[in-house]
Amino acid sequence: MAPTAQPITVARRDQMFPILAEADIERMRRFGEASSYAAGEYIVTAGTVAPGLIVILSGTVDITQDVSPGRRETIVTHGPGNFIGELAQLSSRPSLVNAEAKEPVEAFVIPSQRLRDLMVQEASLGERIMRALILRRVGLLESGSSGPIVIGPAGNGDTLRLQGFLRRSGQPHRALDSDSDPCAKTLIGHFHIDPHHLPIVLCPNGKLMHNPGETELARCIGLLRPIDPDTVYDVAIVGAGPAGLAAAVYAASEGLSTIVLDCRAFGGQAGASARIENYLGFPTGITGMALMARAYNQAQKFGVEIVIPDEAKLLGAADDAPGYRLDVGDGESLRTRTVVIACGARYRRLDIANLAQFEGTSVHYWASPIEARLCAGQEVAVVGAGNSAGQAAVYLASQVGKVTLLARRDSLDATMSRYLVERIKAQPNIEVVTETEIEALEGEAGNLSALRWRNQVTGAVTTRPIQHLFLFIGADPNTDWLAHCDVALDARGFVRTGADIAAGQMETSRSGVFAIGDVRSGSVKRVAAAVGEGAQVVAALHAYLSRGNAPQTAGRP
Ligand SMILES: Cc1cc2nc3c(=O)[nH]c(=O)nc-3n(C[C@H](O)[C@H](O)[C@H](O)COP(=O)(O)OP(=O)(O)OC[C@H]3O[C@@H](n4cnc5c(N)ncnc54)[C@H](O)[C@@H]3O)c2cc1C
Repeated sequence: MAPTAQPITVARRDQMFPILAEADIERMRRFGEASSYAAGEYIVTAGTVAPGLIVILSGTVDITQDVSPGRRETIVTHGPGNFIGELAQLSSRPSLVNAEAKEPVEAFVIPSQRLRDLMVQEASLGERIMRALILRRVGLLESGSSGPIVIGPAGNGDTLRLQGFLRRSGQPHRALDSDSDPCAKTLIGHFHIDPHHLPIVLCPNGKLMHNPGETELARCIGLLRPIDPDTVYDVAIVGAGPAGLAAAVYAASEGLSTIVLDCRAFGGQAGASARIENYLGFPTGITGMALMARAYNQAQKFGVEIVIPDEAKLLGAADDAPGYRLDVGDGESLRTRTVVIACGARYRRLDIANLAQFEGTSVHYWASPIEARLCAGQEVAVVGAGNSAGQAAVYLASQVGKVTLLARRDSLDATMSRYLVERIKAQPNIEVVTETEIEALEGEAGNLSALRWRNQVTGAVTTRPIQHLFLFIGADPNTDWLAHCDVALDARGFVRTGADIAAGQMETSRSGVFAIGDVRSGSVKRVAAAVGEGAQVVAALHAYLSRGNAPQTAGRP
């Protein structure tokens, strides 16, 4: 019999909840401040910001999560030598769990900033603590019992949108199907929700939201905080894909005050990859989401200010000081000495009139477990002939009944890596249909019922009852927002840099403004290349800042 996978709370319990030795506690003491709590006192409440990482010297503390309104479950009981904390404490985000003193507790509290200092100054202790914080977050994600509760019909576009945002943000949450889940029905009755107003989100701080936008939801759960208008950052990075996160990690670890914003979620296109097999150091491959979550946590460890979701809208000279002003969503702006444009590319859409009505419900640009669950046992179509289409086809084949892979060219060989072509050939439930273009989408109320495609050589038309379509047909640069920012673009809209415009390496036509990764004209469109450019640009930032240059439009073509 195949062994059953153990939950992480069992398999890695010792690493998740380590007991610190007396000597370790002594080394940590200088980063914190003594604190005591009475029996029955709530040291931390879910939905509010905890004072920091709390090291227990005496007494016991129950860590609980609210599995449904009015129902609380104990995750673990901490005693002397344990510490209370989770990834949220690295960046002063609201806690996902409660901590209640069972008896009088003596402890010391290490605030977020000091915790990050500890991780840098006490490397081996920092490693153990960081590992525990990450494993605790994984445990919360796995249990699916803490964080906001999304209640709505399972296949509804807005339900999927909210779930997708929380999943991509590494945010534990629960999704309850309003049509079948008894707990969902009770909550809908309790709050007197009209079924037409679903989905709703119940946040850990008790706030009820009706079909919120991602920004509104992120603000409610404390992922997104107001930007401090008085801080002048050394560098503002637009985009938290592999290029932006790499630049953030290198910049912050080298002492530059760094802010990163992303209009969607961290991870960029790489976060959509079902399995990256060509990134150095991962011989068995790694999901894009896992790789990017590591980078995201690493950036937080070095104190990068992360603003997600928020969109860069306009880049201009600062009014009152040398440097730049970046206008972002919700009427906010930030001040910075330099800017790194790492806003990558976005998936291309099919030129079919009624495409939009199926997006989010039947037409997908990601192939994650959420989409796979929607399509379980069915036939799906994947369009594209690049590695992203190949990865999606292989992943979906393991989750659905059949995958039809549609490509315009006569073979996949010229555009897809050899290993993926071979894997597709070996997969009995993938059918490759070449020299084909989709002609029509049929269906109503956002639900696809059939796909029609035409063979470009023979003219033969095929109609198949396919309800889910995945598009991976290349990407265009995310540079619309740069149209009025004096940043030179090439004919296809990618940002020009370097010798091409008589600027420094990776520098754009505005001095002190750099571009890296997929958005940069002539870059290699790969994760490793994006990460490499992220590391490299930090040297250029240092050189620029050390010259004390006042930013200006360089008057380059
Ligand atoms: C499905 C898929 C699978 C892939 N698999 C592989 C693989 O196996 N190996 C490999 O090497 N490469 C792979 N790639 C390519 C690789 O992911 C990209 O080359 C890489 O992600 C580029 O990184 P980037 O940081 O430059 O840009 P992106 O990853 O595109 O990230 C840019 C970020 O900027 C944000 N953004 C855009 N505009 C704004 C704005 N105005 N304000 C704020 N934020 C903004 C976006 O939301 C995005 O998160 C794959 C791509 C896809 C789509």
